[in-house]
Amino acid sequence: MLPVGDINVIVVTDVHSWVSGHSPIHEPSLDADYGSVLSFYEHVRDSIGGDGNLFFVMNGDFMDGTGLTTNPPDFLLPILEHMPWSAVNIGNHELYANSTVQSIRKPGGFSDWWGGRYLTSNVVLASSDDPIGSRYTVMHGGDGQTKVLTFGFLYDMADAVATVTVQRVEDAVKSKWFRSALKEEYDAILVLAHMDHQDPLVQVILKAIRSAIGHTVPVQFITGHTHIRAYDNATDACSTSFEAGRYLDTVGFVSMSGKNSSCKFKHAFIDGNVEALRSAANVDKLDTDNGQALTDLIKETQGRLGLLDIVGCSPQTFSYVYDLNATDSFWRLYLDEIVPNSTIFSLGNATHKKILFQDTGAFRYDLFNGTVTMNDVDILSPFDDTFYQLSSGIPGHVIQSAYERISEEMKFMMNVEQPIPSAAMSPPRRPAANDTYDLYAGKFGIENVVKILSDELGFDVRPMELGNDLSTNSLIIDYMKENWACPSLVDDNHDTPKPSIPHHMPHVDVSGVAKIISNGLSTPVWIGLGVLYFAVVAGFLLFRSRKRVGRERFASENSQAELEPVSDAVFA
Ligand SMILES: [Zn+2]
Ligand SMILES: [Zn+2]
Repeated sequence: MLPVGDINVIVVTDVHSWVSGHSPIHEPSLDADYGSVLSFYEHVRDSIGGDGNLFFVMNGDFMDGTGLTTNPPDFLLPILEHMPWSAVNIGNHELYANSTVQSIRKPGGFSDWWGGRYLTSNVVLASSDDPIGSRYTVMHGGDGQTKVLTFGFLYDMADAVATVTVQRVEDAVKSKWFRSALKEEYDAILVLAHMDHQDPLVQVILKAIRSAIGHTVPVQFITGHTHIRAYDNATDACSTSFEAGRYLDTVGFVSMSGKNSSCKFKHAFIDGNVEALRSAANVDKLDTDNGQALTDLIKETQGRLGLLDIVGCSPQTFSYVYDLNATDSFWRLYLDEIVPNSTIFSLGNATHKKILFQDTGAFRYDLFNGTVTMNDVDILSPFDDTFYQLSSGIPGHVIQSAYERISEEMKFMMNVEQPIPSAAMSPPRRPAANDTYDLYAGKFGIENVVKILSDELGFDVRPMELGNDLSTNSLIIDYMKENWACPSLVDDNHDTPKPSIPHHMPHVDVSGVAKIISNGLSTPVWIGLGVLYFAVVAGFLLFRSRKRVGRERFASENSQAELEPVSDAVFA
């Protein structure tokens, strides 16, 4: 049973356009889509009843992740607008492209759709200092009495597009609007905070609230951005912080007591799995009419975009985080095989040796054994960077020196240990010192590469873009079409590509049974899972610096180590 309380909140965060869920072939345990989540919400709403208090929130980062992310996000937004969210927060991924900001901001756009419930407490337009959405809202419960003051904060993001200013959270909580908001009438406070569940800024916000209104009003933080499941009940005596995974692997549920009762918080992590959601909602069949209609819309949109078209058949699963020596490392495949055999390396003088630099934040998910669709390529490589030619005839020793400097700077930016280099070079071997090379680079971080290379060469390098047709994904797709043709489906069964159970599953196995653990449901097994989970998280945190970095493309989101805790374990 869901741990229902006075005030209840269903949470999705960091879905990054995975609204269709995960591939039913590759990850059948994560088969829920936004239609399933909408159905779940409707069932829970019905069971809590019209006079109960249920809210539904989205905590930011709807962009970047699958083929449904386009610039501007014209295909994704109509899908998101079917979700009956009570409040929506902005994520950093909504602030990397002007076209996205424009889609949100324009009259009748995404922000307007939510009628004052799109919250951007510390994100404002650079031109006017007006918030893109609203600074805060007061949500009203179904009981006609309960009111929840709700904010939407973003961490101190440093690299948003120039048309937007992300005000420092430390400054925002000193603003007049923030003090006025706290003078509203309410029973509890919900802080949507697009930041890690233990980000020091959580305490900054909490302290500002406490110094204004004292310690008795319950404060629930809905956190995110680091893509883990996490819960922290040590923020203070009457508040907790709750983070609900990523890529629709988790639907979160939190409940809290109202103002005049003792501070009680409960929570549950529900797998992004149809059976888990059905069981949590305690119904015989999950799909509602609205949920089914949304599933149909998502599939129809994917079809229109050609995302379900088959590109080829992968002979094995490749991981985007394995080191370059591993046979199942996608980076090894990319640097050793895909790039050297690509159109880029056949450009210009065929006799010249070529080298390509690319940032290793480019790939974000594993590529699974068997059928590969266009969407699988987009999931693997959501940024699809174009390429630049930097210069011709560069000595190998200059390239090596520049590469080492770029790697060092990237390492600093990524601020996380990982088994792949912080910058990638193709071919992935030290260039011969006295040979000369034509040098290319991916678009992301090109300014820095140009600066360092110019410095090494002693003259200004002028990069030349190779055109939109030549991009990371076009290289990958060309390679697959050339080398990974699917055996004919009309052939006999021997060669028919079989949907395979991936041997590298970044997510937890779900045995088909809804697994919800919440306060009060502990058994020795759950405790064991909880301890295991805590040990994994604690072990990881030991080696990971918690310093936040600006560009999430490099940030801790990328770390495979953080994926492991995505299980049903909870420490309540
Ligand atoms: Zn995210
Ligand atoms: Zn984020």
